[in-house]
Amino acid sequence: PEAAREKAARAYELDRKHIFHSWSAQKSLNPMVITAAQGSYVWDGDGNRLLDFSSQMVNTNIGHQHPKVVAAIQRQAATLCTIGPAFVNDARSEAARLIAERTPGALDRVFFTNGGADAVEHAVRMARLHTGRSKVLARYRSYHGGTDTAVNLTGDPRRWPNDHGTAGVVHFFGPFLYRSQFHATTEAEESERALQHLEQTIVFEGPSTIAAIILESVPGTAGIMVPPPGYLAGVRELCDRYGIVFIADEVMAGFGRTGKWFAIEHGGDVVPDLITFAKGVNSGYVPLGGVAIAPHIAATFDDRPYPGGLTYSGHPLATAAAVATITAMAEEGIVENAAEMGEGVLGPGLRELADRHPCVGEVRGVGVFWALELVRDRATREPLAPYGGSSPAMTEAVAAAKAAGLLLFVNFNRLHVVPPCTISEAEAKEGLAILDHALTVADGHTV
Ligand code: PLP
Repeated sequence: PEAAREKAARAYELDRKHIFHSWSAQKSLNPMVITAAQGSYVWDGDGNRLLDFSSQMVNTNIGHQHPKVVAAIQRQAATLCTIGPAFVNDARSEAARLIAERTPGALDRVFFTNGGADAVEHAVRMARLHTGRSKVLARYRSYHGGTDTAVNLTGDPRRWPNDHGTAGVVHFFGPFLYRSQFHATTEAEESERALQHLEQTIVFEGPSTIAAIILESVPGTAGIMVPPPGYLAGVRELCDRYGIVFIADEVMAGFGRTGKWFAIEHGGDVVPDLITFAKGVNSGYVPLGGVAIAPHIAATFDDRPYPGGLTYSGHPLATAAAVATITAMAEEGIVENAAEMGEGVLGPGLRELADRHPCVGEVRGVGVFWALELVRDRATREPLAPYGGSSPAMTEAVAAAKAAGLLLFVNFNRLHVVPPCTISEAEAKEGLAILDHALTVADGHTV
């Protein structure tokens, strides 16, 4: 253990000296060392075990170090580590088949990317070329990635300092009853008025200028707002009426997170034109993302070359990991487990915590995809941290959870409970008990 601690200390020292971290002011960072991970747990530099209710960046849907995925990567590495995208490779072909079999409708062509942001970039490029239009509508309260187009589509403050290439991106409000933009009091009203607002936006922007509407089937980082019944079907209808490409961003919500292979399946039989995916497709064991493409969009590039590509498109190690991940998820009923844990344990458990803790304004989610909206005052719904910021209350609550052995995903005034889809009932209950303690800390900051 002493040698392990020294190794961790050395890693920390080199990190602070040489690593430039994402989305952060560099000087005051104090990143956590992780030395090992297994299933739902990670171990820090001091040898403490923590329950990973963040799934890192909400990507380890199959849990850490799943033996079948690790073995598949090892096998692929021993066989063929890398091959260019123009060649045929069995791991890539098989991954595409497994994905195509699970996408809704006939989205059975896959363009592989390195991650989620470039999947979004390529989906937008395809939509623009297919329609000959350039504008894209995207939601406020969304995250679509860190590259230029993806960050301009993003509806959160990370866009603000990057907002120099926005040409052609227009934001609109989606449904979010707890903080309704539309003075709605029921889900049905919220859905109807959000659709009216979207149609007005289309009409005033000029339908003939709009290539695509992009939205997360269930917005993730922005707050896990499961859309009210009818909303996604309504968006589909508007896209059909105005000749607009519907892009469903399933980077975070896809591959089991909501208890279905794709979150859009919760909206009935809505079929988007393009689906972007990443994260859960292979749980991030090797970077991978992609776009699933409907036949009429793919046909645009039957005779005309698609002007885009990547050196690592369909990388063998990444796609072999996807094959093993999807196969294991199917064989082991992991998507079903996510649904059951959500319905049977996490949902009821979180609602019970909300009943007892005045800091919880709302609990919402599905599957292993849950958000607690923390408030200073339940009556006014004043958030426990401002939009785009943090607060001592949030920092203390998160630190209390961590000290007691629980990692959470945090955004502004929200705690997200997003464990692996493989989580057991005992682990879920262990996490809920620690969360109970962290919420007590946050209660101290309510009015
Ligand atoms: N789209 C959504 C919905 C996401 O949640 C994310 C990442 O969190 C992205 C796109 C960007 O993915 P990546 O970080 O792999 O580029």
